[in-house]
Amino acid sequence: MNCWFTELQTDHMKLSCRVKRVLHEEKTPFQHLAVYDTVQFGRLLALDDVIQTTIKDEFVYHEMIAHVGLNTHPNPRRVLVIGGGDGGSIREIIKHSSVEQAVLVEIDERVIAAAREYLPEISCALDDPRVRVIIDDGIKHVRENRNAYDMIIVDSTDPVGPAEGLFSRSFYQDVYNALTEDGLFVAQTESPFFNQDIIARVFRDVRSIFPIARLFLACVPTYPGGLWSFTMGSKKFDPRQVKVEELPALNTRYYSPAIHRAAFELPPFVAELVKQD
Ligand code: SAM
Repeated sequence: MNCWFTELQTDHMKLSCRVKRVLHEEKTPFQHLAVYDTVQFGRLLALDDVIQTTIKDEFVYHEMIAHVGLNTHPNPRRVLVIGGGDGGSIREIIKHSSVEQAVLVEIDERVIAAAREYLPEISCALDDPRVRVIIDDGIKHVRENRNAYDMIIVDSTDPVGPAEGLFSRSFYQDVYNALTEDGLFVAQTESPFFNQDIIARVFRDVRSIFPIARLFLACVPTYPGGLWSFTMGSKKFDPRQVKVEELPALNTRYYSPAIHRAAFELPPFVAELVKQD
């Protein structure tokens, strides 16, 4: 019982979780992949020693990255997830009856295989008939698909290695082009405490391409700093003007109509980064 998984969350801060059992470890063509059974957070998926998701707190991230956008668009029929190989975003998307097809474009098929085997609670919707899984680079996929999706979710790793391009201006321009005329996208955009430069730069880029740009927040205990940011770019619909109470209730544990509204209320130190109107 003295085995620990440690993530170096910044150059000067670590998060350690006591491990009951190492369930899986491998080197994929893209990254080091591991699944641990931890005492505090249950099963934990790590890529290159960075926590991606845990059974205990995954619902916060997956509900927020999916439902804020899906409830902003009045009729999302075709939805794309880039990254997200654990399947959590797909599980949430599938809760919306308007969705006819959910496409997952993940670069590393081993992440999907590990999630299917060790994280069934998260990957459970990957075999839904409305889901299509494509193993490819999401950057290439959005470049090659125009006017194809009502919503795009960028559920990526941190901006290093294969995910670096998922935080670039040219990628957001391709996302714009891959969306239908009233489409919108949501991306995970890191920690307001430790990645202020990324949040400010991404927001500036998104605002220069999309008529509507919004930042929203949620609390994910295993991510650096706990507080996590998401950026939305929308061609037509404003997430702050949605009458969320009037929408069908979703089976969720973090997302709710009140949370939908509250998530856009930014503490001044975060508002300052984006100067959101
Ligand atoms: N919730 C997570 C987080 O914020 O830590 C992200 C989880 S999900 C497992 C991230 C996935 O993005 C990884 O499986 C990784 O392989 C995938 N990924 C990274 N770059 C990609 C790219 N260019 N195209 C498609 N998938 C990519």
